[in-house]
Amino acid sequence: MSIFSFFHHFKVDHDLLKPRVFSKRRFLQSGLLAFAGIVMQPKWVRSENNQAQWVMVVDLNRCIGCQSCVIACKAQSGTVERQFNTLILISEEPEVPAIQFCPVLCNQCENAPCVDACPREATFRRDDGIVVTDWAKCDGSGDCVEACPYGARFLDSIHGNRSDKCDFCIDRISKGLVPACVEACAPGALIFGNTSMPSEELRSYLSRRELEVSRPELNLQGSVFYLPLNKSDQKERG
Ligand code: SF4
Ligand code: SF4
Ligand code: SF4
Repeated sequence: MSIFSFFHHFKVDHDLLKPRVFSKRRFLQSGLLAFAGIVMQPKWVRSENNQAQWVMVVDLNRCIGCQSCVIACKAQSGTVERQFNTLILISEEPEVPAIQFCPVLCNQCENAPCVDACPREATFRRDDGIVVTDWAKCDGSGDCVEACPYGARFLDSIHGNRSDKCDFCIDRISKGLVPACVEACAPGALIFGNTSMPSEELRSYLSRRELEVSRPELNLQGSVFYLPLNKSDQKERG
C-alpha cells in the first residue's frame, strides 16, 4: 500500500486540513517508517553523471505537524478541490513521541514509473531532476496516476483531467525563491536546494548516512530524503 493511499481515500470524504491519526499498523504498511535501517548515499554523491539536481530533505525530528506547508502549497499551487501536492501523515505510536508526523510529496523519481507509463510522453524528468507534465500533451488518460506507487499524482477535473502533482515549485525556484512549503515551515523541517550549490545546512544534511527514501525497495532514486526520528533524543527531551 502506498503512503498516499490513505489520503486518497480521505480526499473523497473528509476535510484533509483537519489532522488525522492513523493506526500504527496502517502507517507501517505505507512503508515509510519501515525503512528498517537501510543506509544509502545521498543522491548527489552517488549520481552516475553528477548532474546537479534539486533535492529536498525532510527532517522528521523537526516536523510538528502544523500543516503550514500543506496550506502554503495549496495557496501556491491552486490544486483542484480536495487534492493536495503535499500532505502530513500522522502516526500514533505507543513509544515516545506518541504522535509522529511525516510530510509526503512527489519524490521526483529518477526511474519514474509515471514517466514510463505515459503513452503521450507528456510527463518527463528534466535535467535538474524535477518530473513535470506538459499539459499541452496530457490527454487525461490517468496512466501516470495509476503508475505512481506513492499516489502522488491526481487528475485536475477543472482543467480537462490533466495530471497534476508537486513540481518542487518550479515557478518559484526559477525566480530564486524556495518552494512555498519550505518557506512556510517555521521549524525548518524541509531543507531544499540544488546539489550544485547546496547551502551549508543542506550539505550537512546530505552527508548524513541515516538519510532514507520512501520505499527504497522500489529503487526509484527519488530526490526527497528523510532524516528519521532519533528516538533516543526524543526521549531525552520528553
Ligand atoms: S510546515 Fe513544517 S513542521 Fe509544519 S507540518 Fe509542514 S513540514 Fe511539518
Ligand atoms: S513519486 Fe510518483 S509522480 Fe512523483 S516522480 Fe515518482 S512515480 Fe512520478
Ligand atoms: S514544492 Fe511546491 S508544489 Fe511541491 S509540495 Fe512544496 S509547495 Fe507544494
